[in-house]
Amino acid sequence: TTEIYTLSLHDALPISLIGASRIASNHMIDAIRSQPDAQIASVLSADAQRAESYAATHGIPQYFTDLDTLLAQTECDAVYISTTNEKHHPQAMKAIAAGKHVLCEKPLATSTTDAVEMVTQAAKRGVVFGTNHHLRNGGAHIAMRDLIAAGRVGKVLSVRVYHAVSLPEQLRGWRINDASAGGGVIPDITVHNVDTVRFLLDEDPVDVIAKSTTSGLGEGVEDSVMSVWTMASGTMVQSHESFTHSFARTGIEIHGTDGSIYAQNIMRQEPGGSVTLIDMQGEHEIAFDTHNMYHRALHRFTEATRGRGAPSADGIDGVKSLAVALAVREAAQTGRTRTVDYSGVPQ
Ligand code: NDP
Repeated sequence: TTEIYTLSLHDALPISLIGASRIASNHMIDAIRSQPDAQIASVLSADAQRAESYAATHGIPQYFTDLDTLLAQTECDAVYISTTNEKHHPQAMKAIAAGKHVLCEKPLATSTTDAVEMVTQAAKRGVVFGTNHHLRNGGAHIAMRDLIAAGRVGKVLSVRVYHAVSLPEQLRGWRINDASAGGGVIPDITVHNVDTVRFLLDEDPVDVIAKSTTSGLGEGVEDSVMSVWTMASGTMVQSHESFTHSFARTGIEIHGTDGSIYAQNIMRQEPGGSVTLIDMQGEHEIAFDTHNMYHRALHRFTEATRGRGAPSADGIDGVKSLAVALAVREAAQTGRTRTVDYSGVPQ
């Protein structure tokens, strides 16, 4: 017999937006709505007028200014948290306590201790916890990881990640002038580079050195940083992040004993760029999928809430990217090598 499953909106995972943010309006509302089995139930904003206009603009059925009231709704099974960074921890803890699945923006929190608590409590409560590190969903990144795993570059000796960009005008708020909101390029971009390298090499950074500065935008927080990490295998990684580079391209170089990979324009929100492998046989342009990274992240998260698979980046991935980023900031501030503190991170 053939069973036909029809998915009514009633069956679709109701997700509430915690935070009337730009990342939600620019990418994540579309990503949620691209899923056949997910829907946006409501939005939370600290400001009633903003909540109302955001809900109206995006056709969101309900809006709230109080998180407890939102969480008390029956038609909310999951939350997507995209408020400023200092709010992620308290909001996630409430959502977890209410039994909601959580997809949280990076950085998960402003301290590793808080991030560990979020992930540990989610596991105890039995809810799915994902971190929105979109880059590991990218076709270019998956293609690079596959090349490395297949041994196409041999033993990886070193990695260079360049992710210095010009922060768009409309984002020049808390990111460049509010340390208490988790501003600075390290919590904003270094975490992405850490997650990308961990994803590509399938290992963790052990210690880091770094220098940071302000080069035109940062007020009380760094807007540029360069760091060098040693991975568990001994592979060296050089990582560069900035908010002030108007003409720089982003990219990754992976250098191994048997080949090198050059990936350009791939540390972005849109798919695309190029991946080239150079080895004894010459230069090979590598083909890859150009699907929307946020759509794939949402698909994996939604599937995980149905008991199928895991989010692309889980909570532990989010804790580790934060732990390394905080070590980079501490190394830059002290001028000393910092061992990454993974204490308390669930295995
Ligand atoms: P926004 O500054 O757009 O939003 C953060 C908060 O600021 C919102 O929750 C909202 O508060 C308030 N806000 C937003 N716009 C306005 C406005 N026009 N006037 C007044 N208040 C406003 O932040 P982003 O969307 O850039 O970042 C949010 C989170 O997402 C961060 O944690 C960031 O690191 C992460 N992020 C992740 C990306 C990724 O690719 N994974 C990309 C970009 C950001 P309220 O909700 O109370 O209304």
